Amino acid sequence: MNRLSTILYLAALFLLFSCQESVLEYPQADVVIVQVNDIYEIDGVNQGKGGNLARVQGLVDSLKKVYPQVLLVHAGDFLNPSLIGNLKDESGEKVKGKHMVDVMNAMSFDAVAFGNHEIDLNYPTLKKRLNEMNFDMISANLFFRDSAEIRAFRQNEKEIKGYKNFEINTKSGLRTLSLLSVILPYNKKDYVHYQNVNSTIQSNMIDLKEKADGVFLLTHLNRREDNELGEKFQEINLIMGGHDHYNFCDTLGSERYLTKADANARTAWVHYVSWSDNSKEFLSKSVLVDINNEIKKNIKVESIIEKWKQFSIEKTSEQGYQMSNVLMEIERPLDAREESIRSQQTDFGKLVCEAMASTFDTADIVVLNSGSIRYDDLMLNPVTEGDILKALPLGGVIKGAYVSGVDLMKIYKAGKLNEGSGGYLQVLQIPQGITEFGMYFLVTTSYVSAGREKNLGFMKDFEWEVPKDLDEGENDIRKILIEYLSN
Ligand SMILES: [Zn+2]
Repeated sequence: MNRLSTILYLAALFLLFSCQESVLEYPQADVVIVQVNDIYEIDGVNQGKGGNLARVQGLVDSLKKVYPQVLLVHAGDFLNPSLIGNLKDESGEKVKGKHMVDVMNAMSFDAVAFGNHEIDLNYPTLKKRLNEMNFDMISANLFFRDSAEIRAFRQNEKEIKGYKNFEINTKSGLRTLSLLSVILPYNKKDYVHYQNVNSTIQSNMIDLKEKADGVFLLTHLNRREDNELGEKFQEINLIMGGHDHYNFCDTLGSERYLTKADANARTAWVHYVSWSDNSKEFLSKSVLVDINNEIKKNIKVESIIEKWKQFSIEKTSEQGYQMSNVLMEIERPLDAREESIRSQQTDFGKLVCEAMASTFDTADIVVLNSGSIRYDDLMLNPVTEGDILKALPLGGVIKGAYVSGVDLMKIYKAGKLNEGSGGYLQVLQIPQGITEFGMYFLVTTSYVSAGREKNLGFMKDFEWEVPKDLDEGENDIRKILIEYLSN
């Protein structure tokens, strides 16, 4: 083989075994796995052009016509946050992920990982949602805890397991594929206990050595942590991850990959998996599929999405909003991702602060608790009223007060201390310099002004006032931002 043909041969090999953006024909596979992660919107994004869970099921339906076994998996984050989740149903209770479970129950999910947003719910609500699900949740390192015990979470009295095994028919006989799940200990709540990720995988791998012919991970971790796991556990050929919200495929080693899809099912990974004769599973191809209007929707799933969509249109129009009304054209997406907004200043945070500043003639400083922004995604063009409602589902009034330079420094310091949590502050500072002895007019949300944010309890003692030019019903952060963007 001359040098050129060696290079071509190696290039061909690389293509055959790497992640691909498109596939021309149906590859050979014993089992096909469709992977999605981080989904908060049932009917998609960008005016329905991208995403939509009926399309995800439609993709699975079409693969099922070709392949005998197709698995659908979700790498976590779906019960919260969302606009619909914060609306109240007929019983006066907030929906809190019930709509998502309703839609997912109509789909063919085979295994679903816990994400940090599932832990946003309080325990009684999470318990209800877990019992409503007709699909299996898995998590090996997440446990329920109270004063009496630490135990597995349950779905209808059945203990949630760390992994789920699937029997796969192959040319060389029946094989067992195990999907093992772990979550990052990001969301500290009284009712949860997290076991160490590494040691959990280690002990499960010992157990699975006997029981499975191959183990894949279904994780909800940071990209770096997933890569470290890939390095450490060389016998794992595929990590299907969530939490990062943008698509990528990292090569972990020869024929070993870490894949994440875009949030809100804008894309899905399709993994074509086959066994070789020596019984070690291998991944023949991983293909990223755009979930767009070229994919036929599953009718049953679509009808349930439609029902919830009508519910949200009715409930928000009762409050005076028009979900589809376009407010602004943008050239670049606005960053409203939780990971960004809770640790750095973002363009979307600045925009909300500017709108808040516009409610007072005298505003010097605006601080916005990033926890009031719940979009957790990039905001695409065009920005609609629906986007604003999704971004600020909790609403809340705006208040202002004069504070000293000394107090302002305390506020800034607390905001930095709160990095990584909802108490991290998006800040808009209008005067250049701040001096200890100056007095500044500070604008913020009612939540912060009431001293309810971490390390900011002292703010409740300031003399707060509401904007004079706004009627009571108009003083709502969502209405203020919509008004600001409309002008
Ligand atoms: Zn997450």
